Amino acid sequence: MENIIILGTGCAGFTAGIYTARANLNPLILEGKQPGGQLTTTSEVENFPGFPEGVDGFSLMDQLRKQATRFGARVENAFIDKVTFNQESKTLYAGEKQFETKAVIIATGAAPRLLGIPGEMEMYGGKGVTTCATCDGAFYRDMEVVVIGGGDSACEEALFLTRFCSKVTLVHRRNELRASQIMAERTLNNEKINVVWDSGVKEILPNEDGKVTAITIENLLTGQQSQISCKGVFIAIGHVPNTKPFDGILPLDQNGYLVPEIGSQVKTEIPGVYVAGDCADHVFRQAITAAGMGCQAAIEAERWLAELK
Ligand code: NAP
Repeated sequence: MENIIILGTGCAGFTAGIYTARANLNPLILEGKQPGGQLTTTSEVENFPGFPEGVDGFSLMDQLRKQATRFGARVENAFIDKVTFNQESKTLYAGEKQFETKAVIIATGAAPRLLGIPGEMEMYGGKGVTTCATCDGAFYRDMEVVVIGGGDSACEEALFLTRFCSKVTLVHRRNELRASQIMAERTLNNEKINVVWDSGVKEILPNEDGKVTAITIENLLTGQQSQISCKGVFIAIGHVPNTKPFDGILPLDQNGYLVPEIGSQVKTEIPGVYVAGDCADHVFRQAITAAGMGCQAAIEAERWLAELK
């Protein structure tokens, strides 16, 4: 039986790994479908303390991984799809494989939300629809692309894409960006970015090869529909927490976020089970707050394991 298993290799998971490894708990960190978490798909991280010039997301996660493993944390690839929890032991299932542990920190993060419109899934991944400008932006050199959304992610994607693309159209459903002021100003002041306000995307249209050729949008105030030609559609409309295996096991809010015990950010109602990062935080959702929660969860777990002995 393991002392502690940490689910997730984002900022929360690796920070929990650093703390529990330094506490000699010999943690096992299970890596899911997105090794390194969401920061590996972002470009420059400008607001993580300690990096005055910024740091690229992939490098930051690589450093966190090295820091956790340097102190003895083990990292294994396993996507957990089912769990059973009780006070004495917790069983985690990855298909046929099982893991037994005394304590667990759930830091499973969140995944990009999709629009649920015709054409989206058919052209997702390789045919023009994507949720990651850092991963796919360079494929659209000198082409026209569309970004959907009005938050920090959408602005960041749009700004990043101006490095490659001939034109970036940002389509937002309201007449005001949700993004932070600095990101909104950069976006609105960028000559390559054209913002289409008050508009929703109705469908994504393929060419004869099944690749994106245009989108149909609807002005939500007038109902008028029009088309925007583009080769790429970058969807940046927020995230959904990766909490499916815990549905019915731990309390989730209406949007699927794990709800910690009252009075704590990281403890749950099951002793020895902790939450950290974007799977349990719908308010801040920052790399640094996820890291902070990972640290809190690790310290709580360490104290609980010490009392068990
Ligand atoms: P977000 O802040 O939740 O913004 C999502 C955007 O997508 C909103 O503008 C929303 O419109 C729009 N949207 C949601 N569902 C939609 C739908 N079905 N159809 C069309 N539009 C839809 O998500 P985010 O931008 O991913 O940011 C998440 C968190 O990460 C935030 O706390 C953000 O500050 C942080 N973040 C920070 C940075 C940075 O500091 N550089 C970069 C990226 C993310 P409404 O505005 O109308 O709700």
